[in-house]
Formats: sequence, C-alpha cells, structure tokens
Amino acid sequence: MTRRFEIAVFEGDGIGPEITAPTVSLLRELAARSGDYALDFTDAPAGATHYAKTGESLPETSLEVARRADAILLSAMGLPGVRYPDGTEISPQIELRKRLTLFAGVRPVRVRPGQPGPLTLPEGREIDFVLVRESTEGLFYSQGTGEVTETEARETLRITRDISEKLFRFSFGLARRRKAAGRGPGIVTCVDKANVFRAFAFFRAIFDAEARAFPELQTRHAYVDATALWMVQKPWDFDVLVTENMFGDILSDLGAGLMGGLGLAPSADIGLDHAVFQPCHGSAPDIAGQGIANPLAMILSAAMMLEWLGETQEVPAMIRDGERLRLAAERVVAEGRVLTRDLGGNAGTAEAAEAVRAALFA
Ligand code: ATP
Repeated sequence: MTRRFEIAVFEGDGIGPEITAPTVSLLRELAARSGDYALDFTDAPAGATHYAKTGESLPETSLEVARRADAILLSAMGLPGVRYPDGTEISPQIELRKRLTLFAGVRPVRVRPGQPGPLTLPEGREIDFVLVRESTEGLFYSQGTGEVTETEARETLRITRDISEKLFRFSFGLARRRKAAGRGPGIVTCVDKANVFRAFAFFRAIFDAEARAFPELQTRHAYVDATALWMVQKPWDFDVLVTENMFGDILSDLGAGLMGGLGLAPSADIGLDHAVFQPCHGSAPDIAGQGIANPLAMILSAAMMLEWLGETQEVPAMIRDGERLRLAAERVVAEGRVLTRDLGGNAGTAEAAEAVRAALFA
C-alpha cells in the first residue's frame, strides 16, 4: 500500500526558490519511482519578500499548512534590506521553531576521506558527528524583548527542565539509533559552561539524570570553549554533542566550516509533533537570482527529512531513499567534478542538482 505524506514547502527569500525547485524535483522522482510512499507538496508563503508585499512575515494560513503537514521543508528566509520597524531582520524560521516547539536543532557534520575542506584528515579517519542545538530557549529566549537603556543592555537566558529533558532524551535516542546503524560509538557529550553559570550547572544536572535511562550509552561533559578547540583538533572523536541555543548557533557554523562551507551543511529542527528541515545557510542575497547557489545543503536537508519521516512513520523505503539521496550528494562532493563556486568549482545550481540526480539513479 502506498503511504501518502504532505510536505509544507517554504521556498523563502533570496536563493531559496532556486534551491527549493531542484530539491522538490528530486523528492518527487524518488517517491514516484518508489511506489511505497507518495509526497504531496503545499507551498507556504512567508519571509522577507512576502512581508515587503503584504506586511505579514508568517501568515496564519502558512502556519496552518505547516501544522497540518507531516514534515516541513524550508529553504532560507530574511533579507538584510527588509526589516521590522524595530530594526530586526525578518526570521519566521525562528518563530516557527518557537510556535511548533521544535526544541532539537540537528546539525550533522560529515566529511568523508578525500572531500576537500580546511582540515587534513588523518589516515583512516572521517568526520561524522551530530550537534544537537536546543532551538526554542537559551539566550535566544529573549529575542526581540531585550532591555536597552542609555547606559545598559540586558538579555535573559532561559533554560527549562521540561525542554532540557526532551532535548536530552532526543539526543540519547539519536545516539542509540546511530550506534545501531553502525555510525557512532554511542557517546553523548553535554556542551555547556557549567563552571561559570548556574543555569548551565542546572542544564548539566538534567543531562546526567536523563542519561540514567540509557545505560548502553557513554556520556561526557565538555565546556563550550574547549569544544570549539576540539572541533578543529580532533572532530573525528565526536559522536553526538548537545548544547544550548546560542552555543549551538556558533558551533554549528564551525561545523559547517569543517565541511568546507555553508553550502554543504544541512539541518533539522525537530519537536515531538513537527519537524522543519532546512539548510544551515541564509538566503545569500549577494548571489540570488544568478543560478549559482549550491543546492547541496538543501538536498541533504531533504534527505534528512526522508530519513526522519521513514523512522517516525515506519516506512523503511523512505529511510533507504533518504540514505541514498545523502550518499548521492556526498559522492558528488567527494568526486569533485561538478562543484559550485563556493566549493571551488564553476557549476551552476541546475548542474550540481543534476549531478546528484545522475549519482542517485545511476
Ligand atoms: P543568516 O544570518 O540568515 O543565516 P548569513 O548572514 O549567515 O545568513 P548567508 O546568507 O548564509 O549569510 O550567506 C553567507 C555567505 O555564504 C554569503 O557570501 C553567501 O553568498 C554564501 N552562501 C550561503 N549559502 C550559499 C549557497 N547555498 N551557495 C553558495 N554560497 C552560499
């Protein structure tokens, strides 16, 4: 029997529409060839361009499409020239995380042997770890409500027991699935600054308490500054890292740097009932409309979406297709023949997406 799933598509701003179109085409073709599952795509207008036109950045109708969907595919939103009256940028993706309680920001970092990048991997090593960034509270909690006077500015960091428990359970579950799939040793590292801030000692204590339910996994503690160092010196030692929102924001860009740039970094924001899959990069207005954006981060995010849907809805064909799509994109990068400019090549968006398609259906 064919299972049907509805996907909400936020094509967003800047390069968003250019990288969304080939990604949706690949998903359509995978589903059509599979026969085990069908995907229906529904557009959800939102973002800076939409705000400039209508005065609304995330219309209720689009939020409703997102709520109803089985998964949400989002490219990038926001443009530097379009701002709210208080001067902040339009970022409905952050609002979506809060409104749909998407507490787990999943940022995989993967570098295969031979893949160009800033690090030289030791013989026999590859990088394959996942950073889980809490995405609804932490220092981002006070976004838009910070107090600023003539002489002082304050922002409040918030860490709750409820969200932290969910975050850690998710992270341990992820490490368990990776271990079962042979992709990791089953080590979860809590990244914090518990030596300085009470809030992080609280965070760490919840981590330790949740860990007791996963005796087959190993746990580690690490300070965020040391983690930044180790991400450069020995990133092959990490398996699953879990951290607060702002620390995760910074470390996930470092992770993208390890992969050779933002154009290759996928992500997911996952809650108990909803999930958004989107590249780590922004809308790249400097290259929008030129057909040169790298579509791989978006394609890799779509691959994560298939794997997540397959796992949560128990459709093995989707898990397999998600993995095939990821491996096809990774092969294109490792072979290095068809690369976009950000990776040192001269291919355009369409050519790079076609290379993935060719690798996928070869
Ligand atoms: P945001 O704050 O919205 O995350 P940002 O300020 O980090 O955005 P991006 O829009 O991600 O900025 O762009 C940063 C740089 O990376 C720009 O020079 C942009 O052209 C480049 N870049 C981002 N994504 C891509 C991509 N998919 N392909 C090629 N270059 C990209």
